[in-house]
Amino acid sequence: MARGQQKIQSQQKQKLKKDKMKKSTGHDQKKAAAAALNYKCTVCMSLMPDVKTYKQHFENKHPKASLPEELKLE
Ligand SMILES: [Zn+2]
Repeated sequence: MARGQQKIQSQQKQKLKKDKMKKSTGHDQKKAAAAALNYKCTVCMSLMPDVKTYKQHFENKHPKASLPEELKLE
């Protein structure tokens, strides 16, 4: 029990650390930049700012690959 608890606590600490790091670097501009890379190409792992760009990229670069779920929704 105690060990499990410790694990959870350390995980929470890790998360807090990450959140803090995010906050310390997170001004509006950076937030926008982070938000601007919402999509990761499942084939080449490139980051895409939005679905449109992603879809375009996918159709141009990976015409033979099947469309990822998030693109099918559009
Ligand atoms: Zn790609």
